[in-house]
Amino acid sequence: MLAAHSTDPDYDKMIAFQSHAPGYWAAEAMEKWDDHKWQLKNRINSLNELEKHINLTQEERTGIILSGNKLAMSITPHFMNLVDKDDPNCPIRKQVIPRMEENLDDPQEMDDPCGEDSHMPVPGLVHRYPDRVLFLVTDRCASYCRYCTRSRVVSGVGEQQLETHWEAAFEYLENTPTIRDVLLSGGDPLLFSDAKLEKILSRLHAIPHIQFIRIGSRIPIFLPQRITDDLCNMLKKYHPLFISIHTNHPKELTTEVKAGLEKLADAGIMTGNQSVLLRGVNDDVPTQKALVHKLLMSRSRPYYLYQCDLIKGSSHLRTSVAKGIEIIEGLRGHTTGYAIPQYVIDGPGGGGKIPINPNYIKEITTEKVVLRNYEGKEFTYPEPQHYETKI
Ligand SMILES: *Cc1c(COP(=O)(O)O)cnc(C)c1O
Repeated sequence: MLAAHSTDPDYDKMIAFQSHAPGYWAAEAMEKWDDHKWQLKNRINSLNELEKHINLTQEERTGIILSGNKLAMSITPHFMNLVDKDDPNCPIRKQVIPRMEENLDDPQEMDDPCGEDSHMPVPGLVHRYPDRVLFLVTDRCASYCRYCTRSRVVSGVGEQQLETHWEAAFEYLENTPTIRDVLLSGGDPLLFSDAKLEKILSRLHAIPHIQFIRIGSRIPIFLPQRITDDLCNMLKKYHPLFISIHTNHPKELTTEVKAGLEKLADAGIMTGNQSVLLRGVNDDVPTQKALVHKLLMSRSRPYYLYQCDLIKGSSHLRTSVAKGIEIIEGLRGHTTGYAIPQYVIDGPGGGGKIPINPNYIKEITTEKVVLRNYEGKEFTYPEPQHYETKI
């Protein structure tokens, strides 16, 4: 089989890095564009503002009106420019513009699909795995993803509020030597000022048993203007520091995003991408292949591909698990190993991340393992005749 990039007519278009500025803001002075504060101040937060730019469907209009007391709508001008004005199937639109279907009642869906609230030793600190914690430091993001797994608290308009007990959280981390890895998330920690973020990082960095700090952020995608030299110079004092980014579709990797990711890489910060498999957004092999290739070109490594959590109001965006397996099969062997994310399901109700893989083992006995490769050809690996594991 030929590689998809030579058989797919859209491949070259999909992997091109483009700038979409100023787009809908052609009347604004361009020097504002690179200022992340201007970007935040000029976010699209209402039906009125949105309708000035694009043609909405009735489903979207209803969704926007109903979103006000659940998960707010907010879209940075930078990201808004990726939204197609007329196409209701635009993969960018589906991620950030609310739809009526968000209000459908599905008894299988949950407010807290990953069971985080029941794994908090201190409010704001999720300790599910033995050696690492998730530290929820804010409930705000630059823009809001409609399938947000933490929509119960994120954006601040729902019934539940995020309550992070800062001092108790730091004390828990200082007093729990089994924790070697802290993941800052929320909300988006890169919304904080450099000074506020540095306060958190320096306190964590001073804890001897903490070997490794991560920040989960979609700001490199929603607001690449925030990735300033000052931010990078501050962050690199706290190595080893990784950033988990979140992008789902190749169009999101613009020239500005690529420049920001390169800046982070130049500061020695590894970025890994966490995608969510979404219906009509990225549920096909060519889109995923273009996405992972553009990530490598931007010096970012695909990390996880998540099956969409059973979050309330996400039924229209979820895919089958079979689709995810098909996508991984379409990548493994067909492209660079570094480009292939691990497909995972967060076990509904609090099981943590469970890896899902295509099955390449046809038969396994004490004598041999019968395998198939990515082309479907069969291979046999004979097991050693005398092998005892150390106990
Ligand atoms: C995802 C997650 C982590 C980090 O998991 P990794 O597999 O190490 O990336 C840690 N804690 C919680 C609660 C998580 O959901």
